[in-house]
Amino acid sequence: MIEQSILEITSALSVANRIVVVPHKGPDGDAMGSCLGLYHFLKGKGHEVKVISPNDFPEFLKWLPGSEEVLIYENQMEHCKQLIADAQIVFTLDFNLLSRTGDMAEPLKDSEATFIMIDHHPEPSDYANHTYSDSSMSSTCQMVFKFLQKLRALSNITPEIATCLYTGIMTDTGSFRYRSTSSETHRVIAELIDKGADNTLIHQQVFDTFSQGKLQLLGVALQNLRVNKEFRTAYITLSQEELDKNDFKKGDTEGFVNYGLSLEGIIFAVIFIEHKSDGIIKMSLRSKGNFSVNEFARAHFNGGGHLNAAGGKSELSLEDSVEKLNSLLPQYQEQLRR
Ligand code: 5GP
Ligand code: MN
Repeated sequence: MIEQSILEITSALSVANRIVVVPHKGPDGDAMGSCLGLYHFLKGKGHEVKVISPNDFPEFLKWLPGSEEVLIYENQMEHCKQLIADAQIVFTLDFNLLSRTGDMAEPLKDSEATFIMIDHHPEPSDYANHTYSDSSMSSTCQMVFKFLQKLRALSNITPEIATCLYTGIMTDTGSFRYRSTSSETHRVIAELIDKGADNTLIHQQVFDTFSQGKLQLLGVALQNLRVNKEFRTAYITLSQEELDKNDFKKGDTEGFVNYGLSLEGIIFAVIFIEHKSDGIIKMSLRSKGNFSVNEFARAHFNGGGHLNAAGGKSELSLEDSVEKLNSLLPQYQEQLRR
């Protein structure tokens, strides 16, 4: 982000503003953590701030400080449209295409607010007035920390802000394991602990609060795990019926795809999750090394993401989606075969 942007943003934030902060649809820990971290900061500066999520967010994030204040666009459309129309500044966090907000993209496109994007996905689009994009960053939460640093506002980081940012860095790095985790990530994490993030408690809130249904659904997912050894690929399916039988709640399948990648020799893992009401199969794709699931998801499954973590969707049946995956693998044999 260029110095001129920082000057302009600093000047915009020096007077009280109506501000809306937006995560992507299906928000994860990084999206919610960054939005809520920024929310607490902006509120502390005296702004009128609302976080508006396109749809509901997972149970395992509902303890985050401020999460009870988040508005859900799907549930309060008219009210949210009014807030967007009245906003002077809109922050969009953890995505870089307006279409990732689903139906909320319409009112956002019509808005005359100053847009500020903070995001770590590759290939940002150009809807924002100020774009802070860096795909080398572990998470948007790490970027929000750096953004506050650029604003010379690190001393404004409260325990609430530290907790939100810690959570997003932790979830987006697989608890500080993925390649995007740098020494700088650890330095930011250390600062956040010093500023009041209770690291042990945060790990417990996110990882030790599973419902019985979620664990049983994991059992089903692991039973459904299949391996295509030739192409070092593993995949899991979950049908709507299997979800319903195990009392599925939003966020319950978070992390399941990683079990495929934990198999020895596997470098590409996919989970297919049936969403009957939307008529689609949602996919999460993960890889190790240089096989780009971002490119794979963009090319074949109407999605995208990062080099080693991406999402996508399929309008075929569950069986046919799996079939499509298997039929595509030979094209990538150079990267996938040993
Ligand atoms: P997940 O599999 O956890 O839903 O998503 C993994 C990564 O891919 C995240 O960074 C997420 O933002 C991105 N992603 C997930 N679904 C989509 C999608 O439909 N389109 C694009 N462009 N990115 C996605
Ligand atoms: Mn992220």
